[in-house]
Amino acid sequence: MAAQETVEHKYVYDFAEGNKDLKDLLGGKGANLAEMTNLGLPVPPGFTITTEACKAYLTTGREPDGLAAQIEAHLESLEREMGRKLGDPQDPLLVSVRSGAKFSMPGMMETVLNVGLNDRSVVGLSAQAGGNDRFAWDSYRRLIQMFGKTVCEVPGEEFEHALDDAKRAKGTQNDLDLDADDLRGLVDAYKKIFAKHTGREFPQEPREQLDLAIRAVFESWNAERAVVYRRQERIPADLGTAVNVVAMVFGNLGADSGTGVAFTRDPGSGAQGIYGDYLANAQGEDVVAGIRNTVPLQELEQIDKKSYDELLDYMARLEEHYKDLCDIEFTIERGKLWMLQTRVGKRTAAAAFVIAGQLVDEGLIDLDEALHRVNGAQLAQLMFPRFRLDHEFQPVAKGIGASPGAASGKVVFTSARAVELAAEGESVILVRRETNPDDLNGMIAAKGILTSRGGKTSHAAVVARGMGKTCVSGADELDVNVPAKKFIVAGQTVNEGDVVSIDGTTGKVYLGEVPVMPSEVVQYFEGSLDPEHIDNPLVRAVHRIMTHADAKRRLLVRTNADTGADAARARRFGAEGIGLCRTEHMFLGDRRELVERLILASTDEEREAALAALLPLQREDFIDIFREMDGLPVTVRLIDPPLHEFLPPLEQLAVNVAVAQERGEDVAKEEALLAAVRRMHEENPMLGLRGVRLGLVIPGLFAMQVRAIAEAAVEVTRSGGSACPEIMVPLVGAVQELETVRAEAEKIIAEVVGDSGVEVLIGTMIEVPRAALTAGQIAEAAQFFSFGTNDLTQMGWGFSRDDVEGAFFWRYLELGIFGISPFESIDREGVGRLVRIAAEEGRAARPGLKLGVCGEHGGDPDSVHFFHEVGLDYVSCSPFRVPVARLEAGRAAITTTGSDSR
Ligand code: PEP
Ligand code: MG
Repeated sequence: MAAQETVEHKYVYDFAEGNKDLKDLLGGKGANLAEMTNLGLPVPPGFTITTEACKAYLTTGREPDGLAAQIEAHLESLEREMGRKLGDPQDPLLVSVRSGAKFSMPGMMETVLNVGLNDRSVVGLSAQAGGNDRFAWDSYRRLIQMFGKTVCEVPGEEFEHALDDAKRAKGTQNDLDLDADDLRGLVDAYKKIFAKHTGREFPQEPREQLDLAIRAVFESWNAERAVVYRRQERIPADLGTAVNVVAMVFGNLGADSGTGVAFTRDPGSGAQGIYGDYLANAQGEDVVAGIRNTVPLQELEQIDKKSYDELLDYMARLEEHYKDLCDIEFTIERGKLWMLQTRVGKRTAAAAFVIAGQLVDEGLIDLDEALHRVNGAQLAQLMFPRFRLDHEFQPVAKGIGASPGAASGKVVFTSARAVELAAEGESVILVRRETNPDDLNGMIAAKGILTSRGGKTSHAAVVARGMGKTCVSGADELDVNVPAKKFIVAGQTVNEGDVVSIDGTTGKVYLGEVPVMPSEVVQYFEGSLDPEHIDNPLVRAVHRIMTHADAKRRLLVRTNADTGADAARARRFGAEGIGLCRTEHMFLGDRRELVERLILASTDEEREAALAALLPLQREDFIDIFREMDGLPVTVRLIDPPLHEFLPPLEQLAVNVAVAQERGEDVAKEEALLAAVRRMHEENPMLGLRGVRLGLVIPGLFAMQVRAIAEAAVEVTRSGGSACPEIMVPLVGAVQELETVRAEAEKIIAEVVGDSGVEVLIGTMIEVPRAALTAGQIAEAAQFFSFGTNDLTQMGWGFSRDDVEGAFFWRYLELGIFGISPFESIDREGVGRLVRIAAEEGRAARPGLKLGVCGEHGGDPDSVHFFHEVGLDYVSCSPFRVPVARLEAGRAAITTTGSDSR
C-alpha cells in the first residue's frame, strides 16, 4: 500500500527510470528518450514530468503538491551530472522544455529552448562556446522570443518585425549576417516588446523561467490547434502531455555542428535505405520549420564521417530493438553526436504494408504482427486512383513527394479561403511557402497541400502524412506570393482559383486537371495482377497480408449490392455473399409508370395487373444477381421506402396541374396523382408507412417480390446454377409483423419451389430499437437477423439520418459529445448495446441463429472489430470496402482489445 502511494505521487522520472512502454505516463518522447538512455545511446541527460502532473494541473489550475520539490531534486541531479548549474553566470546549464504526449502531435504543442539564459549567464555561455559571443546572444534572443510567444502570449510578429528591422539596418536578408552586437541590440528590442505586452521585465531568475515554461507546456495541451488536431486524429482529449526537461546541446555552434532527422527506411515507400535531412550549423527547429533547405542525410558522410557512421550504427540498433521503422532527431555539437528523439515513425499507407512484409522476411516479426501493423484505413487509401499521365501533361515543377495520392483542385493561398471554398463543395489545393500549425483547418479542408519550402519532415509533410492527405513539399521552383494570391512557376502565373494537380508520390506539380487511373492494389483485387509474378513490393505485401487476414478471420464478409455488375465486382474483391440487396431502385426509371398504376389502382384488378406487370421485371433483376453470386447466399430485402417516394414531388405536381388546368388541358391523371401524393403525405416519413408496414397495407406487394425471388432462384438452379436466396423483411418491430409476412411468403415459396431443391430462408432486419429489445420473440419467427445499423442509429439516438450530420454534428464533435459520427462508426455503448442484446437474446431463443450487419458500419474498421466481438457471423458493406472489412476482420481475430488505427 505504501509503495503504491509513492508511485502515485511520483511526478518526475529521470530518463534512466523510464522505458518505452510507459507512454501513457511519460508521453511518447519521454518514454523513448528513456529507452534510448537505457540502450546506452548518447542522449543528453534530463527528466520527464508525467502526464498525471499535467492532468492535475489542468483540472485544478495549479501544480500538484510535491511537484516543485521533485523538479528541484531532479534538476539538482541533472546539474551534478552535467557539472553545471542552471543559469550559472560563469558556466550555465541550459535546458529545453518540450511537450510530449502519448500520441505524436507534431508541432501542436509548445517547446521552449535555452531556458536558463539571462543577462549574466549569456556571458558564461559565450565563454563555454569558446568566446562565441554571436552564438550566445543569438541563443538569448531566441529564448526571449520563444518564451515571450509561448509562455506570455506576446504576438510572435512583433519579434519577427524587430528581427526584420535589424536585418534591414544591416542591409541584409540573412540572419547569419547579424553579428554579436546586432544581436545584443535585438535582445534589448525583444525585452522592450516583452515588457510592453506583459507589464513586467523578462524574468531573470532561471528557476522561474523553468516553472513558467513547464506550465506553458501543460497549458498548450488545450491550445486550439492541439484540440483541432486531436479531433482530426481521434486522439482522446483527456490524456494530457508530459514535459521533458533536457540539457541543451547546440547544433548551431559552427560548421562542425548541425542537426537532422533520419528514418531507418523510406517512410514514403517503405524501401530500405537511409533517408533523412541534415542542416549544418542549425538548431532542430530550423529543420522542422522547413525555413532553410536541408541536404540529404547521405551528404553527412562527407561532412562528418565519424558522426555519420555512429548514427548509422544507432539507427540499425534502434530498428532491431523496436522491430520497426524508427525516426530519429539528432544534433551534432562540435563533432559529438547526440540523439534527441526517436519513435516508431509515421509512414504512408504503402510503406506500412511494404515494411510489415519486409520485417516478416527479415524474421523480425511474424505475420500476425504484420497484420496488426496495418489497418483498413491505410488499405482504403491505397485503393484511391492515381494520375493517368499522357504526354500532354508535363510537370511544371518537382518538389518532394511528401504524402502520396493524386489531388487536383483550385489553388488557394490561405487556410480561411480553403475552408470557405471547400464548404461550397470545391476541391482546393492549399499552396503556401511553408505551413505552420495555424494552417491546420485549411489543411483539413484541402484535397492536397503544396509548399515551396521544406523537406519530408517539414510541418506540411508530417501533418499531411498523418492525415493521409496528398502533399508535395519543397517545390522550390514555385515563387509563392501569398498577399498577391498568386504563384509564378516556369514563367507562368497561377492565380487563386486556377486548377493545379499534385502527385504526392512523385512530387510533381501540373497545371490544370490531370485525369486519374485506378491503383495497382485495386487491379490486384480485381484479379488483373498476379501477385506471385509481379515485381511490385506493395502488391506483394498486400497479397501476403490479406491472405493471412483471410486465414485468421472468423467473420465472413458480404457485400451490399443491388445489381449484377456490383455483385460481380464485389465478388472479385472477395465478397462471400450479398448481405443486402435493396430492391428500391428496381422500381425507378421506366418502371415508375407501373408503380404509379399500383398506387392509383382503385380496384383489386387494377392493382393485381400492375403487380403482374412488375413480376417478370423483378424476376430478371434477381436472376442476374443470383447468377453472379452463384453458390453464395443473397439476402434480398423486400421494398422499404414509403411508396410516395416513387411519385413526383408534391409542389411540382401541384404546379403542373395548375398550369395544365389554366390551359384547359385534360389533367385527370395528374389530378389523381396529386390526390394520391396528398393522401400519402407524412410529416415524418422515416417513421411512417414504410418497410413491413407497407407490405401489410398494400396487398400483394411483398407477395409479388417473394414470388419473383423464388421463381428466379428456381430458374437459375434449373439451368445448372445454384441460388441461395434469403428473404429479409425490413423495419420489423414486433414478431407479429414478421409472422404475418412469413406465413404468406412460405405459401408462395412452397408453391414455386416445389421439388427444385431450392431453399429459401426468411429473416428480418433488426433496425427498430423495439426489435432489438424483443429479439428473443422475433427469433422464433426468423431464420436470420441482419442489423440495419443506419436505422438503428437513427431511431436509437432520435437523429434524422438525412439531416443531422450537416446540421449540427460539427458542434457535437466540438463539444466532444462523440468523437466521430455515430452513423460512421458504431456507438458501442448505446446502439452497440442494442446489437449485443439482440444477438444474445436472439441466439438464446434460436441457437445458431445466423447474424449479420448490413448498415454502413459493416465496412467501418472500428465497427468491424465490434461486430467480431459480439459474435456476428458476417458483416456486409459496399463492394469497395470489402477488402477493408476482410483485413479488419482478420485484425479483429488476432487482437482482443479492439483496433488502434493510429
Ligand atoms: C439500415 O437501416 O442500416 C439499412 C441497411 O437499411 P437502409 O439503409 O436501406 O435503411
Ligand atoms: Mg434501414
